[in-house]
Amino acid sequence: MSAKSKLIIKCNSLLIKKFGVPKRQKPLPDPLDLLIATILSQNTNDNNSFKAYQNLKQRFSNWKELLVVKRTKIEQLIRVAGLAEQKSKTIKNLLKELVEKDDIALSFLNNMNNELALNELTRFNGIGIKTASCVLLFAMNRNICPVDTHVHRTVNRIGIVSEKTADKTFNSLNENFPDGTAHSFHTNLIRLGREICKPKNPKCHECPFKKICQFDDKNFEISGVSNSSSFMLLDNV
Ligand code: SF4
Repeated sequence: MSAKSKLIIKCNSLLIKKFGVPKRQKPLPDPLDLLIATILSQNTNDNNSFKAYQNLKQRFSNWKELLVVKRTKIEQLIRVAGLAEQKSKTIKNLLKELVEKDDIALSFLNNMNNELALNELTRFNGIGIKTASCVLLFAMNRNICPVDTHVHRTVNRIGIVSEKTADKTFNSLNENFPDGTAHSFHTNLIRLGREICKPKNPKCHECPFKKICQFDDKNFEISGVSNSSSFMLLDNV
């Protein structure tokens, strides 16, 4: 096992000690539900994207119905999540292509390895590597760790990887990711990034990594109590 894999396992244990094992949905969410929720979550917070997702679910009884309404209607329903024009175009285009493929369930992904499945999903306009990897982790139970802004910042500060961009972090982090750890590691790291390892003034005195973290600008000043923000959209689709 590589030194990086060993470090991920150690960090995963420290995160579980701090936050516990994150709950997973049972049964796993439908892959298309998850994909649409993830598109809605781009560049906004989980609460707003969840509202937009619920607006769509309450208005339509199945996703194909979105193809027969005007895009501006979808835009109106998802406005709370921001970038409504762009996201409504992405969703309409995705649904149109899936219907043309006659595979609204995304079952073409089932027999593909992670790399191929990511390639297939990122062929759709507006779907990047983060969105695609969320579908694989949350809806298909693949052992893959999506990298958002929190995961990128924290794994680089801790010293698990040393990369400048989220996409490079994703590739480096996911080389031989230790079995069975991705959901817990990913979900707890997002919590760490939201509550403790914030972009400015991280609360290093509360952090489970304070003894091993490589970040040069650790902050041990004690100022205020951390707010808990554990609602995770993709575990509630
Ligand atoms: S010790 Fe500080 S900088 Fe390092 S991961 Fe924890 S909060 Fe972030």
